[in-house]
Amino acid sequence: DRVFVPRESDPAEGRVAASPESVKKMKGLGLDVVVEAGAGLRSRILDADYEAAGARIGGASDAAEADVVLKVRRPTAEEISGYRRGALVIATMDPYGNEAAIAGMAEAGLSAFAMELMPRITRAQSMDILSSQANLAGYQAVIDAAYEFDRAMPMMMTAAGTVPAAKVFVMGAGVAGLQAIATARRLGAVVSATDVRPAAKEQVASLGAKFIAVEDEEFKAAETAGGYAKEMSKEYQAKQAELVASHIAKQDIVITTALIPGRPAPRLVTRAMLAAMQAGSIAVDLAVERGGNVEGAVAGEVVEVEGVKVIGHLNVAGRIAASASALYAKNLVTFLETMVDKEKKALALNIEDELVKATMLTHGGAVVHPGFGAVSK
Ligand code: NAD
Repeated sequence: DRVFVPRESDPAEGRVAASPESVKKMKGLGLDVVVEAGAGLRSRILDADYEAAGARIGGASDAAEADVVLKVRRPTAEEISGYRRGALVIATMDPYGNEAAIAGMAEAGLSAFAMELMPRITRAQSMDILSSQANLAGYQAVIDAAYEFDRAMPMMMTAAGTVPAAKVFVMGAGVAGLQAIATARRLGAVVSATDVRPAAKEQVASLGAKFIAVEDEEFKAAETAGGYAKEMSKEYQAKQAELVASHIAKQDIVITTALIPGRPAPRLVTRAMLAAMQAGSIAVDLAVERGGNVEGAVAGEVVEVEGVKVIGHLNVAGRIAASASALYAKNLVTFLETMVDKEKKALALNIEDELVKATMLTHGGAVVHPGFGAVSK
């Protein structure tokens, strides 16, 4: 069976869905791999690197012969028209709010898999693109903040005087937030963090940051069975805002990462809070694509709000594309491996498998995912 890895058509996407390592792995599984010429260039992977790993370099038209297409972004209608009926397409499908595009993949007879719906269970940890990319985004958020900040991050005691350490406050201590804390600490900042899940408290402390939160009864019950945050009550949000307002006024850099599954991102930093910060302070909003945690943040831009530079970069993991691609490619090939019969060295899709059930959006000409089934024709 044949796997095709296209060059991503979105100019804002520097990542690629395969690495030389993942190609080697696919070859070992008995799969034939074709990579579109130039697919890896923006992730510092040359065509020759893929060839050395056993892939053939092809063109966009090779998609028509593929049994599996591996992508970073959901394919466009034009791309889909070049795929074979019955092909498996594995990508970040961004399915919420894009039901028409999903229906289009069903009509094209594709079996489309949304990697971001991978269950967060032990078996699937190495296939978890949300974690692999959020971790890098948390790191990059600190680098972006440091770049825009007109001061040094670590304390420096020099003959010419002392530079104070920057104060960094991380809001939301999940995968991205914890990496942001660790990165800011490595740069020498004095770091504090908040979250609504009690489990975050110990994790924040273990990274050497100070935990700040309203720890009432609601906080003690804020984590869902799946390990995610609940949407907090109006009363809690008001208490949280009061605590944050006094803390944030003393910070140089705020990095927000707070998300609630299936809901808009909670608004955590208001204009008034930004106004209370010193001029030249920085806010990085990693939730900007989901509505934003910071008032005034603009998706894809760095804007000044009340004297604070508010960073709203999109696709933050993609800003370190080489690292992001390496991990993303590994996530995909590990998932693909579960769909290969090792003895026959051929694809063997098991639609009863829990990972397939959780991620498969379309199959056999229909939308099959329960979360999106309503738009099935
Ligand atoms: P996420 O991206 O959904 O949210 C980011 C963080 O924002 C979370 O920690 C959340 O609690 C926090 N948040 C939400 N509302 C907030 C508010 N009003 N104020 C402050 N913070 C708020 O979360 P995530 O990074 O995907 O991780 C969620 C949990 O899942 C973590 O405990 C993580 O360790 C766990 N996890 C488990 C696995 C696994 O077992 N395979 C994989 C990845 C993550």
